[in-house]
Formats: sequence, C-alpha cells, structure tokens
Amino acid sequence: MKTLIVANWKMNPETLAKAKKLFNKVKQGTKRVKCVELVICPPFVYLPILGASAFVKGFGGLRLGSQDCFWEGKGAFTGEISPQMLKNLGCQYAIIGHSERRKNQKETDEMIEKKIRGAKRVGLKPILCVDRLSQISQNSKGLIIAYEPLFAIGTGRPCTLAKAERMRKEIQKRAGTNKILYGGSVNSENARDYIKKAGFAGILVGGVSLKAKEFLQLIKNIDFLA
Ligand code: PEP
Repeated sequence: MKTLIVANWKMNPETLAKAKKLFNKVKQGTKRVKCVELVICPPFVYLPILGASAFVKGFGGLRLGSQDCFWEGKGAFTGEISPQMLKNLGCQYAIIGHSERRKNQKETDEMIEKKIRGAKRVGLKPILCVDRLSQISQNSKGLIIAYEPLFAIGTGRPCTLAKAERMRKEIQKRAGTNKILYGGSVNSENARDYIKKAGFAGILVGGVSLKAKEFLQLIKNIDFLA
C-alpha cells in the first residue's frame, strides 16, 4: 500500500499565479516518486485550474482533494459547495472536520457526519480529522482518519511518537481502519518517523506543504522508506 501524503494548503497561497507555481514545482519534483500517493488540497477557487488535464495529466501519483464539502447535492445553500461539484473538478478526496472548521465555523460532529455521508455518496474519499477519540463514531468505520492533536497544529510542537502511536492504536480499534494519518507540525525531518516508528499510513501536512523545497524533501524521505 502506498503511503498517503495529504497537503492542506488552507487559505494559501494568495494568488492563482503562486498556486500554479507551487503546484507545478511539486508535480515536477515528484515525477519519479513511486511509493507515495500525494493529495493536494488547495482552496476551492484554484481547483478548476489545477484540476485541468494540462496540470494533472501524466502524473500517476498526484491527486486533488478539497478542504471541506457540503452534504447536500444542490439547492438554497449560499456559499456551499456540493460533493458532486468537487468530484466534477477532479477531486478524489475531501478533508472533513478539520479542527479549524470545528472551531471557526462551529462545525459539530453531526454536521461532519452528514458531510462524510455526502462525500461518500458521490465517491469522494473523506479524510476525517480528529483530535480525540470521542470524535470517532460508528459511522467512522473504515474511513481514512487523520489524528491531529490541537496543540500540534501549526505550532511547531509535534506530538511525541509515543503518544501518537498510542492514539493510532486506539483509533484503529474504534474505527476498524488502518488508514490512519498523523498531522501536526510535520516537517521533512520528523515525517518518516510517524510512518516508520509510530506506524501511521501517512501524514497530513499544513505549513510545510507550502514550501516546495522542504515539502519535496519530505516526500522523498518517505518515498525512500519503502
Ligand atoms: C493541519 O492544519 O492540518 C496541519 C497539519 O498543519 P501543520 O502541518 O502546519 O501543523
């Protein structure tokens, strides 16, 4: 099984030109990567351009994902984006329940479950973000789950390997899945340890995914593990 690396660009970069540049650098730099499945999750507005065949074509390991999706298929939901719209733009994955949305948009577990069902309905693979076990329910069975402790997100203070591994095992028990990612202050130096030592199936990367050089190094360090 390939190691999954998910890049969450959040609300970055500020312009389409910069987004294209970053995307192309990553695409060029990962041409020979064999053992990694790389999912880039840019802001919604860049998806149509980055998803165009000229960008993604010819590259087997690169996928597009969204940073969220709504649960309904269409209707009077101002500002929302449906799972099918994302699918139509070339997305294969959707990050759901990121802690920044739980906090800033007041997303509840109930809303997150509806989003997961909506994504699955059209064949988008949800990546459920959790920072505690209570956020995993019966409906999380078999999903890709990203363990992202709040204290580690964007702080430069990653979770210890021992704690991350403990949580991975607990999540595995509850959700019956071994597709568990670690996220939170991952960089090119610590990334491989979460895979090799703590047994994660992949990683979710925020800040470092915006720095092409370091991100490519991180990918290579993991690819060479296999
Ligand atoms: C994230 O926001 O999901 C994340 C992992 O961010 P960072 O890598 O910057 O900690």
